[in-house]
Amino acid sequence: MHFKARVGEKLADRILQENLAKAKPKFVDSRAKVMLELDDIEATREAAKQIRNRSLENLDLWLETFESKATEAGAQVHYARDSQEICKLVVDIARRHGVRKITKSKSMVTEEAGLNRALEAAGIQPVETDLGEYILQINDNEPPSHIIAPVFHKSKEEISDLFARTHNTPRKTDINELTREAREQLRPHFLSSDMGISGGNFIIAETGSVAIVTNEGNGRLCTTLPKVHVVITGIEKAIATLDDLSTLLRLLPRSATGQAITNYVSVLTGTKRPDEFDGPEHLYFILVDNGRADLIGSEFQDMLRCIRCGACMNHCPVYQTIGGHAYGWVYPGPMGSVLTPLYQGLENALDLPHAATLCNQCGVVCPVKIPLPELLRKLREKQVERGLRPLSERIALRAWAWVARRPALYALGTKIGVRYLKWLASGKDRIKVLGVAPAWTQGRDFPAPQGETFRELYARGQRDCAR
Ligand code: SF4
Repeated sequence: MHFKARVGEKLADRILQENLAKAKPKFVDSRAKVMLELDDIEATREAAKQIRNRSLENLDLWLETFESKATEAGAQVHYARDSQEICKLVVDIARRHGVRKITKSKSMVTEEAGLNRALEAAGIQPVETDLGEYILQINDNEPPSHIIAPVFHKSKEEISDLFARTHNTPRKTDINELTREAREQLRPHFLSSDMGISGGNFIIAETGSVAIVTNEGNGRLCTTLPKVHVVITGIEKAIATLDDLSTLLRLLPRSATGQAITNYVSVLTGTKRPDEFDGPEHLYFILVDNGRADLIGSEFQDMLRCIRCGACMNHCPVYQTIGGHAYGWVYPGPMGSVLTPLYQGLENALDLPHAATLCNQCGVVCPVKIPLPELLRKLREKQVERGLRPLSERIALRAWAWVARRPALYALGTKIGVRYLKWLASGKDRIKVLGVAPAWTQGRDFPAPQGETFRELYARGQRDCAR
């Protein structure tokens, strides 16, 4: 995953730093404003948490109910254990229907699967139609850096250059004109596509429907124009009822983009009926495990409540400083720092549970109250239990624990330590280079202590009070 090496690169990238600084307040400010419109934010968050918990506690039941209702409405439901199975199922469906071109609405699960590469290898053209995803696809298939704003890391100027270069058109700088240009490029693809692929924000058991929340019309063009529609989403997205959906919809757009409601909220059920003008003749659901089922009943089950709003990353001081690509896989920010080790293996993402200050900004804004700092701490504990931390760190912590269990020795050690640090500061209030932790002081100064330990200061305070 090379997280540390990537962080250095991202911090040194001046353009990225400017782009992040500009993007940072947008989502944060608009979320804060629109949340205040709710009568009782905390009660709504609690209700959403309970809805997601109820879904997960009986996930098998809701999936079975969903499957039977969706099948009644004309859809076919498949399950995919891993990325390979997702790609195989999609390619098989495409081949069965003679598909040459697929228009895609945004779906992070297809990013997990690397679906576009598999489609291209099978001779099928995937066309990303979400504006952000389209920009990334024409920019040499760059990966997204944010789950709801894939080009969070790019400036308008960079996109202007990219469009002029790729579309061979005069360079435009007005956002409306750029959007119109993308629309003109995409329209022929919508009209000639044989199959549409979408994600699903939720699948609803009582009706066998999929709910899709978008801000661009591309979602509806992908799901209703082609004769085949394939929905690819995680198994954990099942919810029981439309009532549950309405509660979750009060929070999802507010937490994600700071909107009371998105431009489009589509609830799609079944294939096209004989009296209907629009809709697919063939509808498939691919419900993906890819590591999710293992979390059911585990100490990390809370993470499956995630409704992919992105609020945790928008508010994370680490994400705000390095952007999404540094995290190395599909999901960045605090939710990614929990999900990536769980889905890709703890040993493959050693730095991610440490890529957080544990300030709990993420926990405070999460609409379904996922205790992200607690989960990150649990992952750190697992690393220690499995002996995955570096030897030097393990020895240092053991030594510290040994001393900390001997109060007299601890007091002596800290007394010597603070006096040494005061001497090292040579009268200044900061220490620029700390011999025992040189990497720590590479990026910041160490505050110089006054030369007395907390215990000494406390004891003096007690004596002064008594006097
Ligand atoms: S963890 Fe919470 S805040 Fe983060 S994306 Fe998921 S639902 Fe949103």
